[in-house]
Amino acid sequence: MSSSPSIVWLRDDLRLADNPALAAAVERAEPIAVVYVLDEQSPGARPLGGASRWWLHHSLTSLARDLEAMGLHLTLRRGSASVVIPELVAELGAGAVYWNRRYGALREVDAALKSRLRAEGLVVKSFGASLLFEPWTITSGSGEPYRVFTPFWRACLASGEPRSPLAAPHAAEGCVIDGDDLDAWALVPTRPDWAAGLRAEWTPGEDGAHARLESFVNDKLALYHRRDEPALEATSRLSPHLRFGELSPHQVWERVHRPLPAEAAMNRAKFLSEIGWREFSYSILFHLPQLARVNVRRDFDAFPWTSPDPTTLEAWQRGRTGIPLVDAGMRQLWTSGWMHNRVRMIVASLLTKNLLIDWRVGEEWFWDTLVDADEASNAASWQWVAGSGADAAPYFRVFNPALQADRFDPDRAYVQRWVPEVDDPEYPAPIVDLAASRREALAAYEVVKAAKAATA
Ligand SMILES: Cc1cc2nc3c(=O)[nH]c(=O)nc-3n(C[C@H](O)[C@H](O)[C@H](O)COP(=O)(O)OP(=O)(O)OC[C@H]3O[C@@H](n4cnc5c(N)ncnc54)[C@H](O)[C@@H]3O)c2cc1C
Repeated sequence: MSSSPSIVWLRDDLRLADNPALAAAVERAEPIAVVYVLDEQSPGARPLGGASRWWLHHSLTSLARDLEAMGLHLTLRRGSASVVIPELVAELGAGAVYWNRRYGALREVDAALKSRLRAEGLVVKSFGASLLFEPWTITSGSGEPYRVFTPFWRACLASGEPRSPLAAPHAAEGCVIDGDDLDAWALVPTRPDWAAGLRAEWTPGEDGAHARLESFVNDKLALYHRRDEPALEATSRLSPHLRFGELSPHQVWERVHRPLPAEAAMNRAKFLSEIGWREFSYSILFHLPQLARVNVRRDFDAFPWTSPDPTTLEAWQRGRTGIPLVDAGMRQLWTSGWMHNRVRMIVASLLTKNLLIDWRVGEEWFWDTLVDADEASNAASWQWVAGSGADAAPYFRVFNPALQADRFDPDRAYVQRWVPEVDDPEYPAPIVDLAASRREALAAYEVVKAAKAATA
């Protein structure tokens, strides 16, 4: 009898364990082709930034190795998914296609493909794998999506225990088909090779993700109540692993629900609520797929952003603002592809409020430089800081970087690490007067209030 292969189309779920699409294909017991499509052409596709491209290269390398060990081959193709997937189906004479869901603009591509392939008689199934709670299942009493985090997360927790993670399949029969050579995609920088800081900090791939989770639970969760201190490194640094789906939130949930020492157990709920912010960001994205371009609060469309002066913008990007905590954060980002959460809020507040530069400019810089650059969390967090987002920080809350440094980096360990010349006479004066620019920001916000009043 001739075989009718299955295709597993991997996207933001670069793992073998707890991968429902892969598990379904293994269960179907026909030869399996596993494919990753580098899609920069589909409507709504956003090309990855530099740091994410570096991560993707290494994550795919690790995934291909793990797949080989269980008898499967990873095929790489480039192009619009709505062309590439049907081509693969035809080449293989495939009978089934499986994938795990996406939640942004690209879900329209998935929906169209699903109807088309089903109409051709294929089995096509999609699964929830990247979120603990599917966004459409969490709605307020009136059936509307939540706009405020606390009731959203309460409703998530009340909706039942997330499913248990699935084990990684041991072995399966694979199909080998032609694909691109990963090196030909040129995802890693060569001239110049700026990735030394990334290599020093990160191990992309499923093994690296689990090692990070274990070391966090064993060594840092007990300190998580001090997570706002950037020098302490008390957070998990799981964000890029979750972004690329090398680890699922279900695996994180399950791991932290195992018995823990008392100090770690005390911090469990707080840590999980941060995972909840990720879920909340995806829920916002699900209801507003243009989240990276469009204000959640439309009254912010009237905000009088200034056009960024290139010298000022570059000083912010490269950590030369003369404001030590901001410079430390921006250099941590530039060097390692990651920045501590509290410092992200402070640098974003400086850009959008003291410098009055549109949050989209900052979002793009983070998109290019963060290894965890995420279509939901990045845009939602920038809008949260700018004041235009769901459950946003009130506009009048302008972070004062000097007070924040006194509070969260009192012995200056974080600043000294990233800005060793901070006390030298050459260290620049601040590029902006914090008190005066705060007053200007509040005046600019009056325009939003006036626009809102006019339409009320
Ligand atoms: C301006 C700005 C931009 C941001 N851009 C991103 C981004 O592109 N990608 C991203 O994953 N996070 C982003 N965040 C959220 C947060 O800063 C990072 O998730 C966090 O710093 C990652 O470090 P961690 O894994 O050690 O976090 P932990 O404190 O260990 O949290 C565990 C996980 O919860 C999730 N999480 C934690 N805080 C948040 C949050 N506020 N919003 C959404 N998810 C959260 C992450 O997946 C994180 O890995 C941004 C925050 C700000 C203020």
